[in-house]
Amino acid sequence: MSREALMAAVRDVVDFPKPGIVFKDITPILADGALFRESITLLCETAGGAKIDKVVGIDARGFIFAAAVADRLGAGFVPIRKKGKLPWKTRQTAYSLEYGEAIVELHLDAVKPGESILLVDDLLATGGTAAAAVKLLDELGANLVGISVLIELEFLSGRAKLAPHVVSAILGY
Ligand code: AMP
Repeated sequence: MSREALMAAVRDVVDFPKPGIVFKDITPILADGALFRESITLLCETAGGAKIDKVVGIDARGFIFAAAVADRLGAGFVPIRKKGKLPWKTRQTAYSLEYGEAIVELHLDAVKPGESILLVDDLLATGGTAAAAVKLLDELGANLVGISVLIELEFLSGRAKLAPHVVSAILGY
């Protein structure tokens, strides 16, 4: 099992969800037990053996990977969700998308000050979504150990928005 096998399984879908976007479809990885397990193993390795209290996943594909990573690391799982989905008291932040703005939120008691957090998403593009998640975690006093993604669109330089936090990507394009 190799990164090449994972990369070969990612399906490029042209002009989805709108013209000009090449969507990286990770569902073929999820559907293959060996590939899915390998993706989780490699994401877990990005923690470098650090003790992680909670793995935070970003709505919605990030949940799939983050929950599995949390289970493997013996950590808790925390969702960062799009506005209006979390039932209790939240902290929110707005961020820019290609067109317009979006809001993400986190339950106020989801992360305690000083807890060691690994932030996980499926894909890093411009970095706007991850930067919003980092802002929420910083505001709650989290100790962000790293930001780990399965796929990084390197040509968009999203990781520059996340400095000085450590970004680890399994597959780079
Ligand atoms: P960004 O905020 O630009 O870094 O976008 C990251 C978020 O949008 C991630 O949660 C991805 O799931 C999604 N996303 C952005 N671009 C793509 C793409 N080309 N293929 C698949 N998902 C994408």
